[in-house]
Amino acid sequence: MPIGKIQPDSWKEALKFMGHCPLCNGIYSPNSAQKLNSAGAANLVHLTCEKCSGGFIAMVMVSPAGLSSVGMVTDLNYGDAMRLHNKEEITMDEVIEGYEFLKQKWY
Ligand SMILES: [Zn+2]
Repeated sequence: MPIGKIQPDSWKEALKFMGHCPLCNGIYSPNSAQKLNSAGAANLVHLTCEKCSGGFIAMVMVSPAGLSSVGMVTDLNYGDAMRLHNKEEITMDEVIEGYEFLKQKWY
């Protein structure tokens, strides 16, 4: 692919190569993918498996050298992912606070 010919939607092309749902081995349909964010050649994409409804978040990079992607299985749906992907990470204090809260409640 020559430089300058990369279409803004070329991440959708990349989905063809992403293949299968890691949970049930179902094939992702292009309609199941929604973009969360993009920065330059990098696109953050949320996929929903039509077969098992499992979620998957992938970072898809499209460049003249080819495409690459990294991803992870998630229990977030698209709405959750949209809401949370820009949030600040939680702090260690918040983790401890959560732990203390649960400890109080359950023990
Ligand atoms: Zn699946």
